[in-house]
Amino acid sequence: MKIAKIDIIPLAIPFKFGGKPYGWGKQAWSRLNTTLVRIETDSGLVGWGDAFSYSSRRAIQGILEEMVVPILIGEDATDISGLMHRLQKDLHLFGRYGMIIHALSGVDIALWDIAGKAAGMPLCNLLGGRVRNDLIGYSSLFKYNDPELVAEKTRTSLDQGFGLVKLHETGVAEVAAARQEAGQEIPIMVDTNCPWTAAEAYQMAMKLKPYDLLWLEEPLFPPEDFAALANLGARTGVAIAAGENACTAYQFREMFRAGAVTYAQPSVTKVGGITEFRKISTLAAINSVQLMPHSPYFGPGFLATLHLTAAEANPGYIEWFYLDREACLYGDAIKPNKGFYQVPPGPGLGLEPDPNVIKDYCIHDE
Ligand SMILES: [Mg+2]
Repeated sequence: MKIAKIDIIPLAIPFKFGGKPYGWGKQAWSRLNTTLVRIETDSGLVGWGDAFSYSSRRAIQGILEEMVVPILIGEDATDISGLMHRLQKDLHLFGRYGMIIHALSGVDIALWDIAGKAAGMPLCNLLGGRVRNDLIGYSSLFKYNDPELVAEKTRTSLDQGFGLVKLHETGVAEVAAARQEAGQEIPIMVDTNCPWTAAEAYQMAMKLKPYDLLWLEEPLFPPEDFAALANLGARTGVAIAAGENACTAYQFREMFRAGAVTYAQPSVTKVGGITEFRKISTLAAINSVQLMPHSPYFGPGFLATLHLTAAEANPGYIEWFYLDREACLYGDAIKPNKGFYQVPPGPGLGLEPDPNVIKDYCIHDE
């Protein structure tokens, strides 16, 4: 079964989150961007993946079209490990971490979708897991910088059945507002997205400690300073989560060697796809680290996260970006039910993206 055709499809779906504009690089974030990878084999099977690309989609598209697709055409689609090793090796001089590996992640997910379809099995079964209907989701709130809005979104999340809530905030007042709204029993996590020095992070972790966080996520810059993360967790007694900015099992090996985290957060659209995620999963298990997959996505990467989590002996929680999307690639099929997720039971990733959503939200160069 040879790879016959690869299409790279940049997609942007507008969303609303009910707060003041927020974004990176002076651009307000108003659309969920991703780069879909569609791989077709000579037997007619089609697989879908996506590569992380919030504001990097032109770069990711360029990497895929110019550097990756020419290597893959005509190759055996079932040789996933071999192809991913070859791609990483051939492209290593362009950087081992970051956009090259993000781009490869989309290819890997699509190849595993094909493998599941060829076997007539859901991906989680192919990975040695089982289709399960009890994956616990958590509401991952956008950044509001506003205690009242944080309290309001915490309340609506709980009213919709979520049993855990994660904030993207760096202020004590916002965390206090969420804790007051949620009461003492609901686990709350705080994702800070790498803002602080080690000294600042220590001070902030101690200020946040009274709010009894399940975890404090990415408190340090740079995120790969694993020794400083380990030191922070040991000194404060606050559980640290990190890993969404790490790529490949090798970076996670260093993270675990340093004892940097209680919760590891590999992102299937960033680490190198399902192949690397599975290696990270094994490393985490033998180092007694709990996986908590990073998955604020809405495409094939989200489905892959459901399957990977269903194949875990100790499944982590599923991150659900708490936003109002203008459209969804899978309609209502991946919406949470009272805070829980079902793994799509079909072969491969289990669902096919809606061609009308792709047509309507595909970006043509502006
Ligand atoms: Mg995060």
